[in-house]
Amino acid sequence: RFITVEGTEGVGKSTNIAFIKALLESSGVEVVLTREPGGTPLAEEIRALLLSPRRELVNDDAEMLLVFAARAQHIDQVIKPALSRGAWVLSDRFTDATFAYQGAGRGISWERIKLLESFVQAGLSPDLTVWLDLDVEVGMERAMARSEPDRFELEKKTFFEKVRAGYQRRCDEDPDRFAVIDASHSLAVVQQEIARALKERLHL
Ligand code: C5P
Repeated sequence: RFITVEGTEGVGKSTNIAFIKALLESSGVEVVLTREPGGTPLAEEIRALLLSPRRELVNDDAEMLLVFAARAQHIDQVIKPALSRGAWVLSDRFTDATFAYQGAGRGISWERIKLLESFVQAGLSPDLTVWLDLDVEVGMERAMARSEPDRFELEKKTFFEKVRAGYQRRCDEDPDRFAVIDASHSLAVVQQEIARALKERLHL
């Protein structure tokens, strides 16, 4: 089985991924934890480029192509081998993030992303996507613990609003695949909700 976790800034993705991994392992499955962009040596180099100041050199189409280049390596070297030996793959982000960030965020059309999705993934898609959904402002506050947003932060807020709307659109297109978790609650409640969703959807 292939499980992905998605969300914008400050939703508690890392903490909850560790929780999901432990939950799956306690049901006796082997879990391969990985992430995007990344998960292989080359894909991690692409990630480092995209998260560095050199990102300024990369235009929107190139950014999308680099994300998919990283994904091609990741699928071939990590995801497919793990799934074929019967392990479960738990990925911190996958293609929904491309729709959300490069699509809704940067303005690349859904159609172009879908072309690359079918080219690179050839039918591979997650069995379940846990979307940790949270008000963008709350998330940014949690992530940065800053009070007065300057102009740059306000621009980022607009960007992350678009990203969140992109996740919502993906969810609306394929609601059966998504478990939407309200990440505004306390960690204990969020984890209860995650555990309930996983038990329901995966029959753990
Ligand atoms: O998942 P994580 O928060 O570590 O990802 C780091 C950053 O990579 C995100 O905050 C996001 O800005 C960026 N990203 C992106 N496009 C993707 C996936 C991640 O711009 N498809």
